[in-house]
Amino acid sequence: MKAEIFPERCIACGLCQTIAPEVFDYRDDGIIIFSGEEKARQQFIPEKSQKDVRLAAKRCPAYAISYDSL
Ligand code: SF4
Repeated sequence: MKAEIFPERCIACGLCQTIAPEVFDYRDDGIIIFSGEEKARQQFIPEKSQKDVRLAAKRCPAYAISYDSL
């Protein structure tokens, strides 16, 4: 699975990092980044984290996370 984030839509609610802390983190201002990769906008998600990423994308109030099944 490949996930994509849209920081320009993020409202810094903190939910995605709570759901999938192994994948998502924040900048100092609370806007979403991928953990350990502040500049990345897309990332391949290992199978063990895919369920959490799907849930985070579904729950994100700003539609700032998407994924495909590749
Ligand atoms: S759940 Fe969405 S709005 Fe909230 S911090 Fe994550 S990307 Fe931003």
